[in-house]
Amino acid sequence: MSALLELENVSRHYAVSGGLLGLRHGLVRAVDGVSLTVDAGASLGLVGESGCGKSTLARCILGLEQLEGGAIRFQGRDITDWPQTELRRQMQMVFQDPYSSLNPRMSVGAIVAEPLTIHGLGTAAERKAKTLALLRTVGLDTDMARRYPHQLSGGQRQRVAVARALALSPALVVCDEPVSALDVSIQAQVLLLLQDLRTRLGLTYLFISHDLAVVGQICDRIAVMYLGRVVELGPAETLINDPRHPYTRVLLSAVPVPDPGHKRNRENLTGELPSPLNPPSGCPFHPRCPQVMDICRHEFPQAFSTGEARLAHCWLHKPA
Ligand code: SF4
Repeated sequence: MSALLELENVSRHYAVSGGLLGLRHGLVRAVDGVSLTVDAGASLGLVGESGCGKSTLARCILGLEQLEGGAIRFQGRDITDWPQTELRRQMQMVFQDPYSSLNPRMSVGAIVAEPLTIHGLGTAAERKAKTLALLRTVGLDTDMARRYPHQLSGGQRQRVAVARALALSPALVVCDEPVSALDVSIQAQVLLLLQDLRTRLGLTYLFISHDLAVVGQICDRIAVMYLGRVVELGPAETLINDPRHPYTRVLLSAVPVPDPGHKRNRENLTGELPSPLNPPSGCPFHPRCPQVMDICRHEFPQAFSTGEARLAHCWLHKPA
């Protein structure tokens, strides 16, 4: 597989200013030195607590944020060299809340057809035929085209959002917490739909979630983020079965186990997520880490290999 998306040392910082004179008094490193690749047809999960920088990173990839440093290449070409309209066609997004992401005054048919209309693709008859085909692709009855978002269930609304995202046949679909606003039973249906579409249409996903269990169901690889940095990266199965970074272990221990006979050792997080305005020195996870060592308080850990195609930014994995 070739790389569809390559991130090299990507950083996005925000200056914080205030007071009467509007003086700058800090810098939030929302994304700080992230390097990743996503192969064509693959699915990469970005996981972490709220505020860890995963959604900002997605906005950087979509070309909606200006980088402080690093580069993002899509199909081998820097995203700043892409015409915005072409980048919009190639990358589409599915949002967390399907109710607020769909215009309540537009019918389902108009919502799904909107990207085709904006990009001036096809005649009115062709757009209508494509809209009905998209509704069938996402498992909705074509009669739905005449309905409005408030007449649909949460799962149906998210299917409409997926159909709209597919209208332009994008190469990359960024799913930002696409099931977290849905009931658990509906979550499973939407995840199955996304898996099925990936296989049938050869889609590439960047899948953002705070829930490792959800990401584990749909992604081949997972990047765990903490305070703007990737702290562990690896194949989904091995990362979930054998997490190497203490933060990944804490995230996993919070995932409910469906088998009542099986108990997972619970590792609780101590303390709050530190302010990104004033991140801790050394390893940013050190104030909350159950395995903290002296070096962790002073030196940021580089990426150490923890197995095949795996790495973790953690001093515990420094080769002896
Ligand atoms: Fe914990 Fe130290 Fe590893 Fe950071 S580097 S995760 S503080 S053991």
